[in-house]
Amino acid sequence: MRKVTVKDIEVKDKRVLMRVDFNVPLENGAITNDVRIRRALPTINHILERGGKVILMSHLGRPKGKVVDELRMNPVAARLGELLGRDVKKLDDCVGPDVESSVNAMVLGDIVLLENLRFNPGEKKNSDDFVEALSRLGDVYVDDAFGTAHRADASVVGVPGKLPGAAGLLLAAEIEYLGKALSSPDKPFVVMLGGAKVSDKIGTVENLVRKADKVLVGGAMAYTFLAADGVGIGDSKLEEDKKDVASRILAAARERKIEMKLPVDHVAARKFSADTETCIQEGPVEPGWMGLDIGPKTTDEFCAALRGVGTIVWNGTMGVCEMAPFANGSRRVAEVMAGSSATTIVGGGDTVAAVELFDLQEKFDHISTGGGAFLEFMEGKELPGVSCLPDGNS
Ligand code: AMP
Repeated sequence: MRKVTVKDIEVKDKRVLMRVDFNVPLENGAITNDVRIRRALPTINHILERGGKVILMSHLGRPKGKVVDELRMNPVAARLGELLGRDVKKLDDCVGPDVESSVNAMVLGDIVLLENLRFNPGEKKNSDDFVEALSRLGDVYVDDAFGTAHRADASVVGVPGKLPGAAGLLLAAEIEYLGKALSSPDKPFVVMLGGAKVSDKIGTVENLVRKADKVLVGGAMAYTFLAADGVGIGDSKLEEDKKDVASRILAAARERKIEMKLPVDHVAARKFSADTETCIQEGPVEPGWMGLDIGPKTTDEFCAALRGVGTIVWNGTMGVCEMAPFANGSRRVAEVMAGSSATTIVGGGDTVAAVELFDLQEKFDHISTGGGAFLEFMEGKELPGVSCLPDGNS
């Protein structure tokens, strides 16, 4: 599924209109994590080094088609300027005559960042007028925003209908790593899933159970699977209405004779709190207790299952990593992945945050920038932001 990439197109002297995912977390106007900005730097530098003018566009937060001062792109422009060591000109709108004249006045090496795309209702609606207005700002289009590739927004699917398009280096890497994991993974292929809800991930689990050699399930979602298997789960998180689908997935895994592992012990807690009473419980979780992390036996089993394999895809934490007493399971599986010679891929905001918390991010082969997009890709769905880009030679 190779796409035309920024390496395949001529950018010299061109206005390169580039969709990035600069939807960074903010606290009191300050950026608390700039990874999304950093991940776009290789493509920006690639274009600059080849004599292109870079016009960046992104959304930030959910302003719902209105100007929200707290969601202006100014802090992002400032941070990007620091990271690049050069000025980034931030504009106060994303379309219109003033924006066009600023863009047309750019000289080689200039970088412009448009205002938050979602201030304009045309972005989410993919309206023709907005697409037309954006397209006037570029000669070519580059998409490096995997995090929004599952959204049929104007800047994602509309503009590449008007301008010659290409994938940026980050988007191309996402497609390559995730695509290979789905279509021809180095075997054995292990999928490790966890996190809060089964409901967010049903399609993904169903698809991966068909492809993986082993599936390890931890986190809160494991309790719906255990309950479906008739194991007591105490006060652990349960999605009652998803028990049927969990049973179906377990049956499919057993029929395919793949190894599907659920927790055999738990770090059980009295309350959902970091300073509550805890103990290790084997088998069922007792009434009055909730499982907030996989227990030591399960952790050992999961770690053993991750060794000597070809590909590991991980989405969803094994426990409540935000609270230190429930982070051990995730930490240990992350450490095994970090030391593994397998192709290691991690996706999903909370899971990536956990890997960063453990300071292991440099040791994974691919850290996906997608949350919803990662899950939809792994579900086998075609992402509108990917399918609208021209195919390259494989
Ligand atoms: P997700 O975004 O679906 O990957 O879910 C991540 C969230 O799942 C994190 O905020 C964790 O705190 C939460 N989580 C993981 N394990 C558990 C658990 N056993 N009980 C409750 N929440 C959990």
